[in-house]
Amino acid sequence: MNGPSVGPPDPSPHHATPVEPCDFTVFGGTGDLALRKLLPALYLRDRDGQLPDGFRIIGVSRSEADDAGYREMVAQALAEHVPADELAAAVVERLLARLHHVTLDVEDVGAWHRLHDRLKDGAAGEDVIRVFYLAVAPALFGPICEHLDQVGLASERSRVVLEKPIGSDLASAEEVNRAVGRVFEESHIFRIDHYLGKESVQNLLVTRFANTFLEPLWNSRWVDHVQITVSESLGVGERGSYYDRSGALRDMVQNHLLQLLCLVAMEPPTYIDRETVRDEKLKVLQALRPMTPELVDRDTVAGQYAAGLCEGAAAPSYADEVGHASDTETFVALTTEVQNWRWAGVPFYLRTGKRMPERLSEIVVVFKEPPHAMFPHSEGTNEANRLHIRVQPDEGMRLHMTAKEPGPGGIRLRPVSLDLSYAAAFGGRSPDAYERLLMDVVRGNTTLFMRRDEVEAAWAWVAPILERWAGPGHRPRRYPAGTYGPVAAATLLERDGRSWQETE
Ligand code: NAD
Repeated sequence: MNGPSVGPPDPSPHHATPVEPCDFTVFGGTGDLALRKLLPALYLRDRDGQLPDGFRIIGVSRSEADDAGYREMVAQALAEHVPADELAAAVVERLLARLHHVTLDVEDVGAWHRLHDRLKDGAAGEDVIRVFYLAVAPALFGPICEHLDQVGLASERSRVVLEKPIGSDLASAEEVNRAVGRVFEESHIFRIDHYLGKESVQNLLVTRFANTFLEPLWNSRWVDHVQITVSESLGVGERGSYYDRSGALRDMVQNHLLQLLCLVAMEPPTYIDRETVRDEKLKVLQALRPMTPELVDRDTVAGQYAAGLCEGAAAPSYADEVGHASDTETFVALTTEVQNWRWAGVPFYLRTGKRMPERLSEIVVVFKEPPHAMFPHSEGTNEANRLHIRVQPDEGMRLHMTAKEPGPGGIRLRPVSLDLSYAAAFGGRSPDAYERLLMDVVRGNTTLFMRRDEVEAAWAWVAPILERWAGPGHRPRRYPAGTYGPVAAATLLERDGRSWQETE
C-alpha cells in the first residue's frame, strides 16, 4: 500500500502538501452527495493547491451526460454549495477541466468497457492512483467491486471508498464487507464516517493525548457520566423513503454516535497510526455492556416526532412527511457502560433525533462534585465541572468551572466557563470533514476510516435493540416537533439523579 503509515494532520489546510496524481472516480457522480459535498470539497482542495496536474475526476452515473454537460452541472453545484467568498473563477475553470463523465448503469455488464477505456486513456498511465468512491446504494457495492476486478481496474494502486450505510444489520454488513473484501484488501478499503473528519473530533484526540492535565481525570474516579447528543432541527424531508426503512438507530447511533463514544472512551494508542487508533476503538465497542431484552426495555427510548413548532414555524408530523403511518424511530436515547477498568460504573448517555430544537452535536463530560464542601456558608452553588466538546456548529470546547465572584464581604460562588472557540482561536474557515477525508484516501491513510471489525462490532452491539424494537407491541413514543424528545428520554437520566445538559 502506498502512502505514509502515519497520518500527521496538515500544518494548515491552506498550505497543504499536494497529493499524487489520481483518477478519482465517483460512482453516483450526479447524485446529491457528489454535487453537494464531494465536488465542493475537491474544489476547495484544488483552491488550496492540493490537487496536482494530472488529477482527474470521473463522474459515473446513469445520466446521459457528456463531459460538457457534466461540467455545467458541477459548475452550478459549486455556485450553490461553495460559499461565494471561496469561489475563484480561475480555480473553478481548473477544476472543471479535470472533470469527465461516463454514462454507465453499473448493473449492465456490457457497458463497463466505457469506464475502462476512459481510465486507461489518462496521461499518467497504469501508475496512477485510482480512487473509486461508491456514492450509490450499498446493494451496488459488491457488484461494482466485482466489475472493477473483472475489467482490471482493481490494482495495487486502487482504493475503494464506501459511504454509509454499510448494511442495515450485522448480516447485511458482513455480506457487503465480504463482497468488497473479495476484491480489495482491507488496507485499500475506506469506510467513511464523516464525523471522524471533523476538526473538533480530531481535536478531541489532540486534547486528550497531546496534553497532560485531562488524562489523569479521564476515568471513573473523576468522571460522573458522559453525554453525547446529535440533534437536528430538520425533519426527514426528501429522504423519507430511505429513512423510513432505516430509522435513527441505524442512521445515526450505529455509526456516528458510537464512533464519538469510542474516541471519548478509548485508551491512549501508542501512536496515531492507522491500526493502533482503530484497535483501541474496537476494544471500546467490544467492552460495551451487551444489551439484553430487559436492558433494551430499561435503557433505551425510541421516539417519533408529532406535529409541533420547530424554530418558530409549524412542523408536520413524521407520518405526514412520509405520507403514511409508520413505526420508524426518529429519536433514540439510551444509556450504556464501557465495561473496563477505566470506565466501570460510568454511564454514557446517548441521544439523537430529528425535529429537535436546534442542530447540535456535542459531547459533555460531567465530572464528579468536589469531595468536600469547603464553602458551606457561601452564596451560590458549587457545580460539578463539565467539559463541553462542540462538534457542530461553532466547533470548540468549553470548560465549566466555579469561581469566586470578585468583591468584598464573604465568598460568592459563580459558574464561569473557559472557552475555546475554533473560529476565534485559529481564525479562518474550518475545512469540511470531506476535504480532509478525501485527501486521506488519495494518500492511503486509513486512520480516520472505519475498519471492517469496528463496523461489525457496532452492528453486533445494536442488534438486540433492533430485534426488540422490531417485536410486537413496540412503538416509538411520540414527541412534539421542536422538543428534546419523549419525556422518557428525560426520565432515563432523572432516575439516576441526572439531567441532560441543554444548551445555555
Ligand atoms: P442520489 O439518488 O441523489 O444519487 C444517486 C446517484 O447514483 C446518481 O448519480 C445515479 O445516477 C447513480 N446511480 C444509481 N444507480 C446507479 C446504477 N445502477 N448505475 C450507475 N449509477 C447509478 O443519492 P445520494 O443522496 O447522492 O446518495 C448516494 C448514496 O450515498 C446513498 O446510498 C446514500 O444513502 C448515501 N449517503 C448520502 C448522503 C447525502 O448527503 N446525500 C450522505 C451519506 C450517505
